[in-house]
Amino acid sequence: MKKSYAVLAALLMVPNLFAAEAKINFMAGASKVKITPVVEPFSDANNNHRYDDGEPFKDYNRNGKWDPVWLAGYQGGRYATGVHDDLWTTALALSDGTEPMLIITVDLIGYLFDDVAAVKARIKKELGVSPSRIFICSTHDHSAPDAIGLWGQDGKTGKDEEFLSHVRGHVFDCAKDALSRLKPARAVFGKIRYDNPIEDSRPPKVINDMLLTMQFVDEENRAIATLANYAMHAEVLNGGNTEITSDYPGVLRERIEKKYGGVGMFVAADIGGMQSPFVLFHSFWSRGRVGKGVAEKVIESLSDKKPVEIKTLKVSSRDILFPVNNKRYVGAIESGMFGSSREYIHKDADGYHLPADIGFIQIGPAQILTLPGEAFPELGNVLRRKMAPGYPFVFGLCNNEIGYIVPDSEWHDDGYEENMSLGRQTADMITAAVSDLISKL
Ligand SMILES: [Zn+2]
Repeated sequence: MKKSYAVLAALLMVPNLFAAEAKINFMAGASKVKITPVVEPFSDANNNHRYDDGEPFKDYNRNGKWDPVWLAGYQGGRYATGVHDDLWTTALALSDGTEPMLIITVDLIGYLFDDVAAVKARIKKELGVSPSRIFICSTHDHSAPDAIGLWGQDGKTGKDEEFLSHVRGHVFDCAKDALSRLKPARAVFGKIRYDNPIEDSRPPKVINDMLLTMQFVDEENRAIATLANYAMHAEVLNGGNTEITSDYPGVLRERIEKKYGGVGMFVAADIGGMQSPFVLFHSFWSRGRVGKGVAEKVIESLSDKKPVEIKTLKVSSRDILFPVNNKRYVGAIESGMFGSSREYIHKDADGYHLPADIGFIQIGPAQILTLPGEAFPELGNVLRRKMAPGYPFVFGLCNNEIGYIVPDSEWHDDGYEENMSLGRQTADMITAAVSDLISKL
């Protein structure tokens, strides 16, 4: 009996031995596509900072009316007067030789669940990638069109469905192109501390100053994509700015593309409570300085590192319905401010619930946790301690933007961030889901 058990045990071990030695066919591909809206400038003849009937305007789409582009963030009713630099969507496709996965970014303040669901459904239908393997993160750009619905004039929605429809098309095209470019790849990961430009305006001062980087290269060592993950709001430009801009992430991406080639990518990390850029002047000059500063650190984090073969690519995710306890959000939902995203909002006897998801991805030595909003660094630190210590990426504003994610220990009923959050339970629900996902990896 003992002998047959030994044989059985040996047989059972064989596949594991092979698994340990297994070489996956790791591939990467990347792309980027412009999503800049058309801005129709007008002459503010009576200088009241509003458009009034009869004021001359450039009717670029020849529909006979002035089409405003309401900028997201800060005060409502801020219309764009021009385009300083383009907005982009970027996509990174990764594969182990089986079904690929996608990491996508959009230069918007947030990308809500309905837009995410529509893009994912089309990618599934036409490109065959499952929704649970797609992660679409907004860069939290505060100088881009209102994609959420909170920043129109006089309390109205600032959403432009035609623009958002174009964005969905561009995101799909970008994903398709990235998938078509998949080729054998290796990867290099970096990390470096950089607190210089971050200001925490919400006490206590807790900053996540860890800049994490990943780069994928082809067999000739040419860069396919270089991604930076940093915990700082894209708000070098403030509410006084009226020109469309990608803020500092655009400068950062340009610099790393100039250095390496390939596609530069930026994903916001745990930027909540309150990780803002420290600048004396909210100017385009400051945007350049901050973006270049972060880019130099990205380059430093990757210098002298050799790309390694990737033997593991695992993707898992968990859907969660978050209760909406914030009366301001309930009011916004009931007034229809969130537009078609209402289709995805659940209502039962306990009130409203918003759908979102948490993702957990392993790429060789690196782990990525995706969160649907702006986690406080206090929460990010708790979640990172659950991850492998090497390269614990946290991708914020991913597959939704549910606002600030305030840990229970930091909760103050009258706080600004609390007023821009779903409620007090969100952080604990996320922590529990993350523990569960990691335990099942
Ligand atoms: Zn924010």
